Amino acid sequence: MNKVVIITGASRGIGAATALLLAQQGYRVCVNYLSHCERAEAVVQQILAAGGEGFCVQADVSQEAEVERLFETVTQRYGQVTHLVNNVGVLFTQAATSEIDYQRFERVMAVNVGSYFLCAKAFVQRASDYGAIVNVSSTAAKTGSPFEYIDYAASKGAVDSLTKGLAMELAARGIRVNGVRPGFIYTEMHADGGEPDRVKRLAPQIPMQRGGAPEEVAQSIAWLLSDEASYVTGSVIDVAGGR
Ligand code: NAP
Repeated sequence: MNKVVIITGASRGIGAATALLLAQQGYRVCVNYLSHCERAEAVVQQILAAGGEGFCVQADVSQEAEVERLFETVTQRYGQVTHLVNNVGVLFTQAATSEIDYQRFERVMAVNVGSYFLCAKAFVQRASDYGAIVNVSSTAAKTGSPFEYIDYAASKGAVDSLTKGLAMELAARGIRVNGVRPGFIYTEMHADGGEPDRVKRLAPQIPMQRGGAPEEVAQSIAWLLSDEASYVTGSVIDVAGGR
């Protein structure tokens, strides 16, 4: 079976860890990124060094034309895209709602939800009767992230709804759609929110008393994508140390 996966936002963090793991498992991997070409290239080099197959494609997945180009590029190189990990996600400086301008809200929605919709649509339009999608959500969908980023939390709530609806639409076609909700994971995303050490600060509030590693989230994504999860669709797994 020629398994071809696109992972959006895979130049670092959870996306990069997922790309490395799926390549080890025999997928041909497209590492999508926005701006850090050298980081994406480094992920590809790691894949190749371990004997896997992968390449990277720059594309802003919040833009429909770029998503089309991404899918066409991958299809031409590896054949039909059989698996998709909607992983890209952005957040901005921690702030109360009164301090968040609408331009920021729109950008968060466009990247965190719009791209998931656009990539899922491009995937489904090309898919046959086999495949799987995993959408990366967040526990913020349940907590609402007050005084930090309710825009981000709202976008993740929408991701969970998208997962459910897509799963119901595609179930009879043999395409499964699931999600993961990571908790506090050690990645560079928290620096974008203005607090690089956020996970360390919040670790005592986590039942398991520690933040998670990107590789631990990648394992859950890989299982949901795999044929071992053949009767699982429309589900969202919390990967959050008990939160
Ligand atoms: P991260 O380290 O900040 O990485 C974000 C990735 O997204 C980068 O590869 C970046 O590419 C890419 N990207 C950003 N905007 C893009 C766009 N418009 N088009 C294409 N690529 C774009 O993120 P992370 O912490 O690994 O998070 C991954 C996912 O997990 C996100 O959906 C996030 O919301 C979710 N999550 C994370 C945590 C956590 O604690 N870290 C918790 C819950 C959920 P460039 O670097 O090239 O710009």
